[in-house]
Amino acid sequence: MTRLYLSTTIPYVNARPHVGHALELVQADALARHHRRVGDEVRLQSGTDDNALKNVLAAEREGISTRELVNRNARAFAGLREHLSLSFDDFIRTSSDPRHRPGVEHLWRACAASGDLYRRDYQGLYCVGCEQFYTEDELTGGVCPEHRTPPQLITEENWFFRLSQYADRLRDEIGSGRLRIEPVGRRNEVLGFLDSGLTDISVSRSVARARGWGIGVPGDPSQVIYVWWDALGNYLTALGYGGQGARAGDYQRWWVEADRRVHLVGKDVIRFHAVYWPAILLSAGVPLPTEIVVHDFLTVGGSKISKSAAAEQDSSDPVALADAYGVDAVRWWLLREVPRVGDTDFTVDKLIARANADLANGLGNLVSRVSSLAHAYRNGVVRACRCPNGTSRWLAAAAGGGAVGADWPADAAVLAATIERTPETVRTALARFDFRAATAAVFEIVEQANRYVDATQPWHLGRAERAGDAAAGRRLDQVLGALLAACQVLAAEIWPFLPDLAARIAAACDDFGTLPKPQQLFPRIDRQPGRYPAVAAAAQRESEVASCRVEPATC
Ligand SMILES: [Zn+2]
Repeated sequence: MTRLYLSTTIPYVNARPHVGHALELVQADALARHHRRVGDEVRLQSGTDDNALKNVLAAEREGISTRELVNRNARAFAGLREHLSLSFDDFIRTSSDPRHRPGVEHLWRACAASGDLYRRDYQGLYCVGCEQFYTEDELTGGVCPEHRTPPQLITEENWFFRLSQYADRLRDEIGSGRLRIEPVGRRNEVLGFLDSGLTDISVSRSVARARGWGIGVPGDPSQVIYVWWDALGNYLTALGYGGQGARAGDYQRWWVEADRRVHLVGKDVIRFHAVYWPAILLSAGVPLPTEIVVHDFLTVGGSKISKSAAAEQDSSDPVALADAYGVDAVRWWLLREVPRVGDTDFTVDKLIARANADLANGLGNLVSRVSSLAHAYRNGVVRACRCPNGTSRWLAAAAGGGAVGADWPADAAVLAATIERTPETVRTALARFDFRAATAAVFEIVEQANRYVDATQPWHLGRAERAGDAAAGRRLDQVLGALLAACQVLAAEIWPFLPDLAARIAAACDDFGTLPKPQQLFPRIDRQPGRYPAVAAAAQRESEVASCRVEPATC
């Protein structure tokens, strides 16, 4: 058993969440669920960066207080838990959580005690959008490479952190793999950055520049702690770092004594997580994360996601998408389509096409065929076959250890082999954080099971049995038993990725007693024009199927 502390980044909340946030949250959730299911101890951490200057500026633009803006938008981020069926164990808001400020101050004092913090005059080119200073070389034609706006020249006395002292130790931690950065291209990017030489970084700003918003520097009322220091600290402060009693116990248990401390991050914040953060931790005498997992970006309709536009653009609003098309469709697209490396373009049409092909046609049709056949020819009473070797434990769990039906049919060997290898394929894919490979492996069960239906044509067996062929009846028991077993395994295997749909599959295929009446697991979805009305959810509630597609149209 492994003890795993898994975190998402905490987004700044100057606007509502967009589908790019959903990607990281859903990936983290799938990983957490997978590890919980195999018996690991997991704590999944998320939250919001309320103290960013961007939030202050957004509130000024809207003419409301910063507190009002961050409360409103942070609620929208916390609400993703329900809309996207996320299972984070904790959600920290850096402006209001009582654990945060004392922990950040403790981290500051620990670095100060190491002699790594000092004051000096600083003049630099600062991008408010990025909340970071740039050197002349890092600008593109004199403007921020990210925001395409000219940076401001700022002169003030700041606190500095001796980052330059840590280049060798960071190179050693990363080069040795004790701090694993995934994928390897990102690891090389960080090592290249270390080789180019580290300079000390400014880690505070004047209270005036911060508009008085943020956490003050301990003992220096003129300065506010740099928002990145503050935000990165959440990974520790949510565990009660620097606190007393039970709170400190969480830090000991989930950070110091965890086998894996894994940060999921976007490619734009790699330097903060893979260079600044571990250097701060080394200075403070805190163990480093064990893994930093970097994902690339989504574009929407071919363009970079504009966060400020997210509120108006329904096509990038994950809540509107989940309301219109269902959480399963949104999660499935994010996990099934986005490759491990490279940016991916999201469109609503792609989401619909993937959901209809895989969930409505492939998976939904499989389960409704099985339950319809069971009701048509067995009054709903079918027992799942005893599965081939390796998978019996999954089936025993799925069936609550109940009775099992006929032996596995010999002609379902390909289906059996697929079922047997799926858990290991999923495990190895998720060990390299390849969600697309993991979901493809699970979906292979659907494809092989549908092929088995087509090959065995159980409706012909049912008719032959009714015409007096007893052998056809025994064969039908076997075929239905194998298919039912496949669906039960499918429910278990797909659960980390689509927990809602998994629960519906498990309920539809519960062979304790009589199988439930056939229901449509996942209705085909159509594009909703304009603002999406919440029709998909209503359609899913109308689950009684008028005509089940038991037989192919040609039959
Ligand atoms: Zn910028």
